[in-house]
Amino acid sequence: MRILLLGGTSEARELAALLVEAGVDVTTSLAGRVARPRLPVGKVRIGGFGGVEGLRAALADYDAVVDATHPFALGMTANAAAACTDLPLLRLERPGWDPDPAWHYAQTHEEAARMAAGLGERPFVTVGRQELARFVPALGERAVLARVVDVPELELPGAWRLLTSRGPYLLEGELELMAGHRADVLITKDSGGTYTWPKMAAAGRLGVPVVVVRRPAGPEGVPTVHRVSDAFDWVTGVE
Ligand code: NAP
Repeated sequence: MRILLLGGTSEARELAALLVEAGVDVTTSLAGRVARPRLPVGKVRIGGFGGVEGLRAALADYDAVVDATHPFALGMTANAAAACTDLPLLRLERPGWDPDPAWHYAQTHEEAARMAAGLGERPFVTVGRQELARFVPALGERAVLARVVDVPELELPGAWRLLTSRGPYLLEGELELMAGHRADVLITKDSGGTYTWPKMAAAGRLGVPVVVVRRPAGPEGVPTVHRVSDAFDWVTGVE
């Protein structure tokens, strides 16, 4: 059984570790977006496949696919659903955060930017490097603190401050960072999980409003699980 594991998440790394330990032949695929990715155990391939056709060609080397990419990695998830017509495909998607009635939900990053502009002057933006450009029209003049893993190609507005770092984060550090910036609104995707949760707890403690970008819908017709252990059971049960 040769498994292609579309990764780039902590869940994918956990699943790879379990599968390697169980003797399953697993290859994790990473997009190659970040300069120094956290590597999973087992085999790794890095870089895009070249769209649906490229992925379909690559699938000749595998018996099943687990798409454990980030909940906001829309393109890869759609490509996997389109390419896996003859191969079993499972989506492993970590649950979103339990909604807090105090949070402001946005459907898109642009809407989140506009909402944040109405809520504060010193936003803490934690949506990832690739989405930052979508915040410039509404927040270009604000004192934004933008936290990303790698420096974006985008030329940032003069009023913005960039912070490069990578989670997991701790509550104490998040409290210090947000208080130090005097952040008065936090913007995040509904990434879920524990790695980036402390900023939400910090915002709650400091009384900072939170804008959450809702998740895109999952792939239609693809069996989906939310726990690594369920994905492990699926893989080991695939004939
Ligand atoms: P995306 O927009 O869904 O994908 C764009 C293209 O990048 C895909 O069509 C594919 O290129 C390539 N790609 C994406 N994930 C890949 C993978 N695991 N292996 C090989 N190629 C991949 O993806 P994204 O949002 O930029 O995310 C890129 C990676 O970062 C994903 O692995 C994801 O799990 C991880 N990540 C994303 C976020 C986020 O907020 N989006 C956060 C944390 C981690 P081809 O069409 O050439 O195959």
